Amino acid sequence: MKHYSICFECADLKPNNYVYSVGEVEADLVALCTCPFGHKTIMRITHNLCDVLYSSAVYAFVKDCLSESVMSFAAALERTYEMFVKVTLYVEGISYEQIDIFWKELSKQSERQYGAFCTQFLKTFKESWNVNPKMIEFRNKVVHKGYIASTQEVTKYAEYITEAIYKILKYLHSNHSKESGEYYFHETKKTKDRVNELMKNHNNARLGGTSIISLLNWNQMDMPEVTFSEAVKTMTKLKRI
Ligand SMILES: [Zn+2]
Repeated sequence: MKHYSICFECADLKPNNYVYSVGEVEADLVALCTCPFGHKTIMRITHNLCDVLYSSAVYAFVKDCLSESVMSFAAALERTYEMFVKVTLYVEGISYEQIDIFWKELSKQSERQYGAFCTQFLKTFKESWNVNPKMIEFRNKVVHKGYIASTQEVTKYAEYITEAIYKILKYLHSNHSKESGEYYFHETKKTKDRVNELMKNHNNARLGGTSIISLLNWNQMDMPEVTFSEAVKTMTKLKRI
């Protein structure tokens, strides 16, 4: 996934002349960006993984890469499940360090993770989490069988995912904003080693943090309801800039 930021070095030299620095976002949400003049900037993406994956899914949809879009939407929902499990366990008094050890046991099997999510969801909402089996079937067909989906089918799937993610994040935002913030800082600590490594290998690189627009409105005070069509509109506008 490409990341664009303003080059700090160029901005210092010519404050009115914005030059973009481009890089690839790595798995730990760090991007080594380079401007056309060779200045390097190490950018930390200040977002939760589920939000970044959701943006990536909407971007793929806008670019007509429909299968890739389905994969990223599915991944965004799975990472939202993870966040919900971890934050609600933390609220119950378990440290994030302990939760990481617990999650390690689950990390290679999505069914186990989903089981943990369903349990935490039931405890929290006093009702079961329901998935639409048709949507799961659709996702599996695309991901495992190479099914080429139509725009209409992917739109339906994306709407379903957006609604599911919003329901979970809205709850966390409204009830456990502080704990979710602590989760975010706990997660970013893990990128420290990668940032230090990049700083060591690129002596003159500048370090920065970048907050891409959250299509899920996660970083907005009242977290207004998000719809897939709104997310597409925002992404289309961003791509014109
Ligand atoms: Zn530059």
